[in-house]
This record gives sequence, structure tokens and C-alpha cells, in this order.
Amino acid sequence: MATIKRVEIQYRGIFQKNLAKYLGSDIVLIASRMGQTGFSNGRYSDSPERNGIPCKYFAFVSPDLDEEELEAECGAKLDIDEANISVVLDDTMVKGVEPWGWHGIRPINEKVVAGGTMLVVSRRQPEELLKWVERKPFSWNLAILQGDASFAGLWVNKDDLTRERVLGALAAIDPALISIEAVEGYLRDKTHDERRVQAARAAYDEVRGKQRPVAAGEGIRWPYPIPELPKWNQFREGIVVQAVPRHFEIGPNGQSRNEQFKRFTTRTQRPVVRFDLCTKCQLCWYDCPDECFDPTPDGLYDVNYEYCVGCGRCAEVCPVEECIVMVDELEFEDNKSPWEHYKRDKAGYIAWAEQKKGNRRVWYPFVTGTGMEYREGRHVPEGERKAAHRPDGARSVQGQGVVVEDPVPTGPGD
Ligand code: SF4
Ligand code: SF4
Repeated sequence: MATIKRVEIQYRGIFQKNLAKYLGSDIVLIASRMGQTGFSNGRYSDSPERNGIPCKYFAFVSPDLDEEELEAECGAKLDIDEANISVVLDDTMVKGVEPWGWHGIRPINEKVVAGGTMLVVSRRQPEELLKWVERKPFSWNLAILQGDASFAGLWVNKDDLTRERVLGALAAIDPALISIEAVEGYLRDKTHDERRVQAARAAYDEVRGKQRPVAAGEGIRWPYPIPELPKWNQFREGIVVQAVPRHFEIGPNGQSRNEQFKRFTTRTQRPVVRFDLCTKCQLCWYDCPDECFDPTPDGLYDVNYEYCVGCGRCAEVCPVEECIVMVDELEFEDNKSPWEHYKRDKAGYIAWAEQKKGNRRVWYPFVTGTGMEYREGRHVPEGERKAAHRPDGARSVQGQGVVVEDPVPTGPGD
């Protein structure tokens, strides 16, 4: 029987699209240098243009089949049934991905076969990732490549060597798929840049022999139901977009939203709000592109985490220092209302928010090739409102932001 090795590359739409696409074609071109046949294609969930949506590219490699045979076996499919290696370019996707638009959340390791490997770009320990990952009835492997979720999407190319490093890591996992020598030769010929070759070799050394075996039964029972996709004969004629009945009331989840459009799996970070610092200026409520803020009876703005896509806009526009801070999605267990937590236990909520925020503030510099940067956050005592400092002029610590001078503006609730 012919051998086909299947690699899936799981990435976030827009942000990582080019990175994933390049990796798919790199694998094929490197495998072909080793005398193998390769084929790459891609698919997406919902629109590939949407920020943060979990999407996939694939690479198929065979030492036996010719090109037409391989394409006949692996082409024209929207998803694969099994993956020998699954590459995850953003570790927050371990909480689950939606491979069929918004029809159900599936485990990140769903396609990994017995003895297969999931390679995650992450700075976390295997145990921190496995607490989100579905258990399997067989053993498999987890490999971690140290790094951050690299932005190399449609609009930007964060040339931070993640591409080269993933290729080196793949060579460490399965040298028969692509060998490190073939990776180095490919990168040298293609780029004439020894730095890229060295990055691949360093990743190879980092991952080789360090896969974490995951035993059968290790992981979690998957909490989400298996999605049932509509059959072709259930589609209605034309395009039908179900309207959402209009409704608004003050309080958490008070405004009507489309139940089919909970997009939290697109999120790498979520906003943590220090309600005690809020001046009720309304800027977050006005500016959130997904209308995730619900006005509350006390004039504050609750975040609906089921709908928040983690774009960071609210943190950019909030004029108060440390009032809204974007925090890594893997720090959170659920999507419950933060305002209800605050009202129930003010001191407890502030302590919780500070613990989640920690000291590190992610900053995305606008210079390619530099990756992410971190700055130190500040613990602000309860109720101590100060105008947000924008240390680099027009940029906030979250990205491009608004420079707001003292005094801190207040909204109608004050
Ligand atoms: S990060 Fe803020 S602005 Fe963006 S979707 Fe979430 S709540 Fe809205
Ligand atoms: S200060 Fe303004 S932008 Fe910040 S949380 Fe309060 S209402 Fe939103």
C-alpha cells in the first residue's frame, strides 16, 4: 500500500495565512528535493479574510505515488481525516477550533493519528496545553517549539524566522518527511541567508528527541457536542440570513445577538477590565467592532466574552491607565460575565484581574522582523485613575492608540 504522510497546519485567518501557506509549499518543495512527491492545498473556516479565524493548510508527501495519484488521493477535500503531524501556529487554538464556520468547536488534536505528533509554537509547558486538549484512545506525541504566535498574514509579514524554525522542528519530528539537511539546502538556495539556515537548525536541535509522549486517556473529555452540518437538501433557495429580533435591556447580555455568531475561538487575547478604574466614558462601548459591551445599571460596561474576538480595540481606546488590558486567552477557564463577578465580590474581582494581567504587556511593534515585544505593566491601586501613558507617542502599549491628556474624560454616568 502506498505511503502518504499528511501534515496539517492550523493557523489564524489573516494573521497567519501567508505563514501557513508558505509552510505548506516549503514542505512540498523540500520533500521533492528528497525524491518524494508532494502536494499542498488549503481550506478555511468561514471567510479566510476574517481576523483570527482558525483555518488550515495541508501538505501531503509520498515516496511511492506520482503527482496525479497523490492529488487524486488528497485533493478536492475540505478537511483531512487524519494527520501524521499537526502544526499549531498559535497555542491559544488548543482551546478548540471551529472547522466548519460556527458549527461547533472541535479539539485541536482531532485529526492526529496514533503515534502522530502535534507541534505547537508556544512558551508554555506541555501540561499547560494538555489541560485543554481532548483525550484519545491511543498514545500520541506533543512537541513544543518555543515561540509566540507569529503574525505573517495577508497584510503584514512578521519575518521573525518562525517559518524557518517550524521547518527545522518538522525535520526533527520526522526526518523521512523532510530532513534537516534538505531543509538547510532549500533555505540556503532560496534565500542565500545563513541566518535562516541557522534558525532551522537551532529549532531542529531544540525539538529533536524532546517530544512529550501523551498516553491514551490523557487529556480532557471534550465538552462541546459534535457538530451536525446541514445536508445539501436542507439548504433553502437563495441566500437566507436569519434576522435577529431586536431587543435591548440594561445588564449583562442585555442586547440581542446572533446565537450562531459566538466568535470567541478567534481570540488570542481577551480584555480584562478594571471596573473600579472605569470613568464611564463609553469609548469601549462605541468602538468595539463586535458590539460586545453591555451597559450595566451602574453605568459600567460588561464584556460579553462569548462574542469578543479579542481585537484589542477597547484596550487601545480606553483612556485610563491599566483599565483595559489584553491578556493571553489561555489564562481563562470560561466566558462568564466579569461585571457580575465584580458586583458579587469587588475586592476579589480586582485581585483576580490583577493576577490575570500579571506584569507583562504584549506590544506589537510595527517593524517587520522583530516579533512581539513586552513591556512592564503597573499595579494600580483600587480607584486610582490616571490617564493612560503612551510611551511612544501615538502608540499605546497595545498597539496604535490615542494619546489622551489629563484630565481623564468621564461619561454621563459620573
Ligand atoms: S477586544 Fe474589546 S473591542 Fe475587540 S471584540 Fe473584544 S471587547 Fe470588542
Ligand atoms: S474608561 Fe471608558 S473605555 Fe475604559 S472601560 Fe470605562 S467606559 Fe470603557
